[in-house]
Amino acid sequence: MAEREELTWDLFGTASRELARQVADSGFRPDLILSIARGGLFVAGALGYALDVKNLHVMNVEFYTGVNERLDLPVMLPPVPNAVDLAGARVLVADDVADTGATLKLVRDFCADAVAEVRCAVVYEKPASMVSCEYVWRRTDRWINFPWSTEPPVVRRDGQVLDA
Ligand code: 5GP
Repeated sequence: MAEREELTWDLFGTASRELARQVADSGFRPDLILSIARGGLFVAGALGYALDVKNLHVMNVEFYTGVNERLDLPVMLPPVPNAVDLAGARVLVADDVADTGATLKLVRDFCADAVAEVRCAVVYEKPASMVSCEYVWRRTDRWINFPWSTEPPVVRRDGQVLDA
């Protein structure tokens, strides 16, 4: 078996469509989608179109610094969404993967008091996740290569442009 799970752009198209179908079939009609940047932005955008939801919000959470390397705890980075914008809403949280689930738990707990209902949709869920997502496309215990983060950046933060 391959060491890594490989999600291609093509397969992501299928995955996001099937994930949206799960949400629709469950009867849940989110008022807004809350994406977890950066990977969750792709998922939230695709779900937004498929579920006909235009109200998209973003939360920036930093946890991983490399393959299986992470900070002690996930950290919310500014800007943090305004709780007033979420108040009373049915919220669908979208992310690429629930690995430990700590990131999703942070976001779900952040919403919990303000919103009417919060559910989570991910492309992948790993067995150790402390959050059981309501909508999951695939389950795996391997490291996943996502199409948006497999290639190195074309330019580094210090301004240096990297070779093709
Ligand atoms: P968690 O808080 O569930 O441990 O991790 C959430 C975030 O860590 C994901 O949104 C993703 O950015 C990153 N992450 C966790 N597992 C993987 C993985 O297998 N592959 C990649 N590329 N990122 C991962």
